[in-house]
Amino acid sequence: MDQSRTYEDLESFVSSHYQNPDLALLRKAYSYAEIAHAKVVRLTGQPYITHPLAVSYRLAEMGLHLNVVAAGLLHDVVEDSGTSIEDLRKDFGDDIASLVESVTKLKHTPHYRGEERYAENMRKMFLAMASDVRVVFMKFADRLHNLETLYGQPKHKQIRIARESLEIYAPIAGRLGMSEIKGELEDGSFAYLIPKEFERIKEIMDVKVRERGAQVSRIIDQTEKLIAQSRILNFQVYGRVKRLYSLYKKMQRYGDDIEKIYDLVAVRVIVSDVEECYAILGMIHQRWRPLPGRIKDYIAQPKPNGYQSLHTTIFADDKTIVEFQIRTREMHELAEYGIAAHWRYKEDGSRDVQNMRWMEELVLIQKELESKKDFLEQLETMKIDIFKDRIFIFTPKGDVIDLPEGATPIDFAYAIHSEIGNKCTSAKVNDVIRNLDITLHSGDIVDIITDKNRRGPNQDWLKFVKTRHAKNKIRDASRSSVRSWLTGMLKPKEGIKKK
Ligand code: MN
Repeated sequence: MDQSRTYEDLESFVSSHYQNPDLALLRKAYSYAEIAHAKVVRLTGQPYITHPLAVSYRLAEMGLHLNVVAAGLLHDVVEDSGTSIEDLRKDFGDDIASLVESVTKLKHTPHYRGEERYAENMRKMFLAMASDVRVVFMKFADRLHNLETLYGQPKHKQIRIARESLEIYAPIAGRLGMSEIKGELEDGSFAYLIPKEFERIKEIMDVKVRERGAQVSRIIDQTEKLIAQSRILNFQVYGRVKRLYSLYKKMQRYGDDIEKIYDLVAVRVIVSDVEECYAILGMIHQRWRPLPGRIKDYIAQPKPNGYQSLHTTIFADDKTIVEFQIRTREMHELAEYGIAAHWRYKEDGSRDVQNMRWMEELVLIQKELESKKDFLEQLETMKIDIFKDRIFIFTPKGDVIDLPEGATPIDFAYAIHSEIGNKCTSAKVNDVIRNLDITLHSGDIVDIITDKNRRGPNQDWLKFVKTRHAKNKIRDASRSSVRSWLTGMLKPKEGIKKK
């Protein structure tokens, strides 16, 4: 079900949601992209421009600064045409050019290979490489549209893209508190990865929603009337249906028993402030009997990713069970858009402000994750601040070694262990034997080949290694080899063999 966005759709959305948007900028970016992608057709058969339009529209829905929306239109032009980042810088300025540059760079992260540790390292690398969080949002928007149009891809690509989305992108979205995006990434991948289960869960959901639809809308009516009698004026009540992948995971935890899942369809109440949240909870409990042990105050005690709401589950008049979720508008925005909510339709979307918040958020996320036992192993540290100008190289087992830009296989070898450096004879980079002085790139998988009989490092390596660590080790090794040579000279020829 492709509903392709046109430029007019985008412009009218922006006009009605942004304050004094720079429409000339938007149109310029669009014309630029249209020319760059002219005649290019996607595998779905649609003109290429439908893709940047969809990405840009999504970024506008997320409420990001107009520069990001414009960069969304331009995000694939470097790849697709003779346009360079320098051209973009001249025509659109520094900010937009560097956004496009970062997104283009991130395309060259290695493909997913399916090991648990590898996936975690990929997530880390992804976050580190996108040192500007707006780039992460752009990657999400890009990926969401690619998932929507995945049917156009050959089977093996469908699987790869879906896995990557589920195992790399969705958890990152989750950590950033972007549950709306996380849910879409998961459901979009689910259909391709476990199609049988997807169909089964979808079927169950359809039946249940049909069964319960009338009942839920009755409760919504009753709730609206209840609140209307109070002093609360500004509120919304609506039903929300659980997402398929999240239902699938929950079913696994509950012995595949749909009857045990109470939040299949929930009633959501959105109000203006925290006081009203508690007031609504009181009204609901007076009207219906709550299930014991199911009242959760995530306002007083937010979830680790920052989620806030009051949850309660009640017996409705017909004795069926219904969950309520009560939150303020602000909490709602945060629950749907996560850290992106901070900047929704705000003017101060400049990069510095955003990056500051981004770093703060990451530090928070990191602390929260560290305090959770199951994440301890996964995340030793997200050394984001020192990640600038660094590259990320994989060992064949999937561990990541971070090195300065320009680093060589010798730097990599010494970063693993000084003995690996000292005994290094050659290196396989992405399965090909390469010289020891080549420059490595983020995402390379490097396998160092050693010879245990090798005497020590070659002093010529000093001419090209980048890290102080490797330099010191090479010098140390040469000093100690001179020393041992000298010691050998000074020793009596028939020395005592020490044990
Ligand atoms: Mn794209």
